[in-house]
Amino acid sequence: MSLPFSKIQRNSSTLSVISIHHLNHYFGEGELRKQALFDLNLEIKAGEIVILTGPSGSGKTTVLTLVGGLRSAQEGSLCVLGQELCQASEDQLVQVRRNNGYIFQAHNLHRSLTAAQNVQMGLEVHRQLSRAERHQRSIDILQQVGLGNRTEYYPDNLSGGQKQRVAIARALVSRPKLVLADEPTAALDKKSGRDVVNLMQQLAKEQNCTILMVTHDNRILDVADRIVYMEDGMLKTNTVTAAIVQ
Ligand code: ADP
Ligand code: MG
Repeated sequence: MSLPFSKIQRNSSTLSVISIHHLNHYFGEGELRKQALFDLNLEIKAGEIVILTGPSGSGKTTVLTLVGGLRSAQEGSLCVLGQELCQASEDQLVQVRRNNGYIFQAHNLHRSLTAAQNVQMGLEVHRQLSRAERHQRSIDILQQVGLGNRTEYYPDNLSGGQKQRVAIARALVSRPKLVLADEPTAALDKKSGRDVVNLMQQLAKEQNCTILMVTHDNRILDVADRIVYMEDGMLKTNTVTAAIVQ
């Protein structure tokens, strides 16, 4: 069978969006200090959809939060969109966070805001847009994710799949170059999970963004251009992946 990571890359650019070299990470201090990531090396190019998979506790979320600037990288080199994040200042990390779209397992929508207002939160970085423009952009992307008739609904009145689609709209409305997703289908049934990743794939293609997605949902591995496998804080080669995909 042909493997997802052998798919033709749709973007001819060879620019690395994420470039990781000899990255180590530790949690805790003193005697409790424990190494969570061991000498990671990984290059992700513009426009690639990469799935990071592996057992629970293997370090996937740690990688994602480091790449997203949600925690500070300590040792080695981690370059995201040309910016070195190892030893970066808090101000630099804040800037990096603004450039990315995030989708988490729990949708993290604000209960007191409508779907359209939640999506507009994703446009906070675009201060130059008028209120009317921000509203229109949020309506447009909600239509794209099939929620044109739910724009004024509150999260409590939406299904799990619909909420996750709002979260995708919020992550992509600012047209980020990089989208980081942590188990985005974990709380969804099979059909909603499939719909949600198809949507991410479609929007990513349209906007030419790079996606790094953590999942151990075997049903969605085929959306990836490439799959990387982690175990015990280490990245394994793609040969291990072949066994998982079959
Ligand atoms: P995964 O997402 O693959 O399940 P994680 O990245 O969450 O794995 O965790 C990797 C390892 O780091 C685990 O051993 C976990 O217990 C540890 N770890 C994760 N976050 C913290 C933290 N905030 N403090 C201490 N240890 C942590
Ligand atoms: Mg995790």
